[in-house]
Amino acid sequence: MRGKLVVGNWKMHGGLRQNDALLADLRAGWQPADAREIAVCVPFPYLWQAQAALSGSAIAWGAQNVSEHPIGAHTGEVAATMVAEFGCRYAIVGHSERRAMHGETDDVVAAKAAAALDAGLVPIVCVGETLEQRQAGETKAIVLRQLAAVIARLGTRMAQMVVAYEPVWAIGTGKTATPQLAQEAHAVIKSVLDVPVLYGGSVKPDNAAELLSQPSVDGALVGGASLDPESLAAICRAAIPS
Ligand code: PEP
Repeated sequence: MRGKLVVGNWKMHGGLRQNDALLADLRAGWQPADAREIAVCVPFPYLWQAQAALSGSAIAWGAQNVSEHPIGAHTGEVAATMVAEFGCRYAIVGHSERRAMHGETDDVVAAKAAAALDAGLVPIVCVGETLEQRQAGETKAIVLRQLAAVIARLGTRMAQMVVAYEPVWAIGTGKTATPQLAQEAHAVIKSVLDVPVLYGGSVKPDNAAELLSQPSVDGALVGGASLDPESLAAICRAAIPS
């Protein structure tokens, strides 16, 4: 049985010196094993550092965003092909922080997922509802709407993506969806898509095992706790099937 996929999202954290220590600790703690897959998504300027530190290890790396455009006059943007040159396996697209703070619409997220695939990357497409939407009973409709744009854009290539269900109210707040809530939302996603679905939202060593034991939870997208190698290692251990 394959283990679950654990992806760290450093967000806008890091620095050359501290990354060296973090990546070395990660690498030292993990050996190639079939039972799990691990990756870290780092800020663009540190992709070369992740590549240098993690090449040949069991740990993959990726970006936290890519442009929806392939090339051209898009000052400040980074193309998926550029990211791919640094050996990335993954690119997170449509993180709720980008949807909320950078105006990314469902269609833009879909275009980013397509651009990532075109460049040979695996897009990790984030979906999830706000607290207001959950309280209004709209979780299923929101998640399906966000996915529909991606499905329409990717067609049969949709099978190559990973989805991360990240309820917005649980990201960086310390509030985690109960395992039952996570399972319910993941089941909705799996009713329209046969791809791995990660749970994200304040995953920590003390709640990882229960979340990851849900049948439709195929792994975790981990923000804050991924900056601490011991916490990430503990979450990864929770992802190994017993
Ligand atoms: C995230 O950044 O995708 C995330 C889930 O963050 P946190 O684990 O800190 O809630």
